[in-house]
Amino acid sequence: MFRIAVEEAFATDEMLVELSRIVNSKRKTIDKAFSSIYGPVLNSTNAEPLRRRLLDVSGERLSIMDAHGISVQILSLTAPGVQMFSTGKACDIVARCNDYLLTVLEQYPRRYFGLLSVAPQAPEFSAAEIARLASHANIVGVIINSHTNGKYLDSRKYDVIFKAAEDHGLPLYLHPNTPSSAMADPYSPYGLAGPIWGFAAETSLHALRLMFSGVFDRFPRLKVILGHLGEGLPFWTHRLDSRIGISQLFDSTGQLKRLMRKPSEYLTQNFCFSTSGMNSAVEVKFVKDVMGEDNLMFAVDYPYEDTGEAVNGIESGGFSTEFKQKLYFKNAQRIFNCDFSLSDSI
Ligand code: MN
Repeated sequence: MFRIAVEEAFATDEMLVELSRIVNSKRKTIDKAFSSIYGPVLNSTNAEPLRRRLLDVSGERLSIMDAHGISVQILSLTAPGVQMFSTGKACDIVARCNDYLLTVLEQYPRRYFGLLSVAPQAPEFSAAEIARLASHANIVGVIINSHTNGKYLDSRKYDVIFKAAEDHGLPLYLHPNTPSSAMADPYSPYGLAGPIWGFAAETSLHALRLMFSGVFDRFPRLKVILGHLGEGLPFWTHRLDSRIGISQLFDSTGQLKRLMRKPSEYLTQNFCFSTSGMNSAVEVKFVKDVMGEDNLMFAVDYPYEDTGEAVNGIESGGFSTEFKQKLYFKNAQRIFNCDFSLSDSI
């Protein structure tokens, strides 16, 4: 069976060097949550294989894909992308990272597709970068790693990014980042700022800010993809629907906007989800049942997660062939509006 893995990370040397500079700097304003999680990834000897796999596109990565029957990886620049950098540096580096991604896609047009990266620090530049790259056959979406230096995408200044994505028919992958500085302190004493909990708390909050600020009322065709089975939100669906009414009733500040649809409707109509890093069939089945089997796609989160475990998690789940076809490739073909050249891939 064809398998498309939709949240698969790569890096460039330049980006890793620049991120190391931030982690190793003595600046007082250094983002503690970021440093606590990415410091070891960038500096630790134990993480050397991880860095090697992030940089590789032509050797080990393809062998691992072949060993586990992954036909296609959808590549994206690893978190936090360029979102830690100053505006000018972020724009320069992201354009070079996107150009590098294009060379990889052109070298392996049947194995790799890509999500282009942007620099939300510069919304107009980001919209132009989407316009510059959207027509490339193997570019199928845009990735943003949650907050950018504490700024969230519900601010109207980012509407140009949503408009560009919507106009070009590209879904936006809202990928995790470590919690922003304003919410980082309580996560720090026990290493909770990363994949254990902080990534999901940060990213689900960001998704709710988009929903509750009315982004999807302004951009009803916008599709946002959440990894990690929806960062916890599918489990919260009933409570979101049931509490919004009563909260509006008690709200004297006017903070709670009147939305055109119920939270569960935005979740099923404007969001879709991937299995990245969530290799438990029980949880996959839950999200399939609550969010619908057309809204879920397979992902590994290579190289942070093990490809064999990701495939085995699905294969051992007792799912029907029909559902697995949707999960592994049919939903991705529809959501990314791309056939992925599967007919003559491996
Ligand atoms: Mn990831």
